[in-house]
Amino acid sequence: MSEIRSEIRKVIIIGSGPAGLTSAVYAARGNLKPLMIEGYQAGGQLMLTSEVENFPGFPKGVMGPELMSQMRAQAERFGTEFITSDVTKVDLSGKIKKVWVDSKEYHAHTVIVSTGASANLLGLANESRLMGRGVSTCATCDGFFFKDKVIAVVGGGDSAMEEANFLSRYASKVYLVHRRDSFKASKIMVERAQQNPKIEFKTNKILEDVLGQEGVTGIRLKDTLSGKSEDLTLEGVFVAIGHTPNTKLFSESLKLDPKGYILTGVEKGHVTSTNIPGVFACGDVQDNRYRQAITAAGSGCAASLDAEHYLAQHNVE
Ligand code: NDP
Repeated sequence: MSEIRSEIRKVIIIGSGPAGLTSAVYAARGNLKPLMIEGYQAGGQLMLTSEVENFPGFPKGVMGPELMSQMRAQAERFGTEFITSDVTKVDLSGKIKKVWVDSKEYHAHTVIVSTGASANLLGLANESRLMGRGVSTCATCDGFFFKDKVIAVVGGGDSAMEEANFLSRYASKVYLVHRRDSFKASKIMVERAQQNPKIEFKTNKILEDVLGQEGVTGIRLKDTLSGKSEDLTLEGVFVAIGHTPNTKLFSESLKLDPKGYILTGVEKGHVTSTNIPGVFACGDVQDNRYRQAITAAGSGCAASLDAEHYLAQHNVE
């Protein structure tokens, strides 16, 4: 049995990374009294990073979790209400949108989806154990910490090529480890990486294990053709094998692009609009390209303004 909350909210925001929290700041300041369902693992991907040096306004850098706690405090200051649970079900079909947290049912005129994306992992025990201690899924976040060190990038897509090139600015050497000898990445990106003297390609190789106790000291590769293993001594591993948008809750109701990201910009002139009027999406759940905290925050602002416009158009006081 659902326990229905009788109040119809102006906006419910699902997800609490930079996109969701920025939309909350704007919605709260716009007097929309947002309800944010922030999830058990609140704060999004920045909670998994250490120092963020490219978020404007922090010339000395800021720790990822600290940045998220500041954004949350700002959203709270203007009256955002938070529920620290996961949404379990949604029904976005009617004019009044329904959102469930277990047996509790919440209603709203608009919903902003900002559930983010998760970096894919290889699934090795030592990969998770050494995450943030030599293993990373974000070159732009963590590259700087690998100055003059030997590192590896795993993957054969554009992200892996771009990250290998980017990381070669810091690292003394970058191994590009890929499980095949042809690439999903565009030709120009592969060629750029191949021409980079600091990058050595290790193709037809599977990352079998990450070595090290307190930090990364090496990796074990297995050749897919010969079956032979080899160990490489290095200090960092960047896993760049794609992301999965967190859209499980919405796969029945919202239109997704071929890669599973929420399709936005459906209504002309409203970049965060989805196929359902009154439902908006922002941040990494709809962005497969830029994936930066600042671009997510920017789209969160846009989602809030789009929701505000929708409410005004529908005379919701
Ligand atoms: P992709 O899905 O394009 O590539 C993922 C890569 O990871 C593939 O080479 C794949 O191997 C490999 N991979 C997947 N799973 C495993 C696994 N379990 N073990 C080993 N390897 C694995 O993801 P990207 O993040 O690279 O790119 C996402 C999108 O973003 C793309 O559309 C890309 O074009 C775009 N992008 C564009 C950039 C640019 O233009 N500047 C920069 C970065 C991204 P396999 O090939 O064998 O399947």
